[in-house]
Amino acid sequence: MPFQLMAKPSGASCNLRCTYCFYTEKENLYGGSARYRMSPEILERYVRAYIRSQDTQVVQFDWQGGEPTLLGIDFFNAVVALQAKYADGREITNTFQTNGTLLTDDWCRFFRQNGFLVGLSIDGPRACHDRYRMRASRRPSFDAVMAGAARLRKHKVTFNTLTVVNDDNARRPLEVYRFLKKIGDGHMQFIPAVERLPDRAARELGLNLASPPSPENKTDTVRVTPWSVSPEQLADFYIRIFDTWVRRDVGRVFVQFFDVALGNWMGAGSGLCVFAPTCGRAGALEHNGDVYACDHYVYPRYKRGNIMHTPLAELMASDPQRRFGEAKKDLLPQYCRGCEVLPVCNGDCPKHRFAQTPDGEAGLSYLCRAYKAVFNHMAPCMTMMAELVQTGRPASDIMGALSSQGAIRRSSAPGRNTACPCGSGKKFKRCCGA
Ligand code: SF4
Ligand code: SF4
Repeated sequence: MPFQLMAKPSGASCNLRCTYCFYTEKENLYGGSARYRMSPEILERYVRAYIRSQDTQVVQFDWQGGEPTLLGIDFFNAVVALQAKYADGREITNTFQTNGTLLTDDWCRFFRQNGFLVGLSIDGPRACHDRYRMRASRRPSFDAVMAGAARLRKHKVTFNTLTVVNDDNARRPLEVYRFLKKIGDGHMQFIPAVERLPDRAARELGLNLASPPSPENKTDTVRVTPWSVSPEQLADFYIRIFDTWVRRDVGRVFVQFFDVALGNWMGAGSGLCVFAPTCGRAGALEHNGDVYACDHYVYPRYKRGNIMHTPLAELMASDPQRRFGEAKKDLLPQYCRGCEVLPVCNGDCPKHRFAQTPDGEAGLSYLCRAYKAVFNHMAPCMTMMAELVQTGRPASDIMGALSSQGAIRRSSAPGRNTACPCGSGKKFKRCCGA
């Protein structure tokens, strides 16, 4: 079975201390405070094993942290050399997720020369970004990230932006969207910040955030952190961006969430585990060779083993890992099974399933209300785009169709408080007439 790994060669080490980061505290699983660095032996074992485990012509490596630039360019020169040594005729690609604050001209030249696709973490304009993305000294990081973005552009490095949607920037969706359009090359990813205050299990491990719900413990007292995005905020954030995007930017701006939804609408499958029926095919590799079920499940009970002792492919194909992935579907509450948007949502990530259904069943996603609202709102446009693509036309043709519908609507002038003719179920003034 094909799988991916998010490699964390610097472990949880990072030069920033973003308030909502779920990964920096993982240093407590490895003795705390030290700077972590993958050894040359583990790196070579990983590169060789990962290439051999993939049955595709193109093999993609994903580098993350913590902050991987802390390892220096020489570490990644060694990566590229090892990839060339073991490629055996395969094409190798690399993605690299960074907070952007340490990017120099040398880093950007390296990315450009080696075709790395960079993911830049940025939460929106200065006030949004500096709300939670700060240095250990509590100083803001916005200027350093913007300098990094400017260098990436100067060296023509391809990069996506990655924005954590939290209680603060969720209030300013269009401000965030317009800002990201301006600074990047039009590829955006949004990740909702949802974490809970620590439970006993987490405290015993020295962690400050609750561990994910497990089959035996599906609902703790639901106390999310103050900076978590609420379902209502997330729905409003996505809907307002979608309504702008679908009228002006289809084919020019690529929002991962909308692309993934369209893929599911067309029956082409989800490119994102969160909205796929099952998961378990994207593990995490720590600096010392430990492999975990998922980037969000780096806890002792989800450790599958170590690549220095067990072949990587064997770890990712193990029974516990297979059961982990199947559980996403097997443990869906009845409420999801009867849901009108199940084929697109698939019950969200198991990490978020700590809420209860209206009739009291455990294991519902905390973000359910958001996804129900968003997917129902997008349905008429997604159906139209899916039909366009399936008849050989570009999805962007929807913009012309909507603007001519808009002209018709303007001439027939529906009342501002009447139901929107697009079928969203909202008032016209809050939907297409906004
Ligand atoms: S647990 Fe969530 S993030 Fe991890 S693989 Fe499954 S759906 Fe994806
Ligand atoms: S929208 Fe809610 S009920 Fe529907 S599949 Fe998603 S999580 Fe389940």
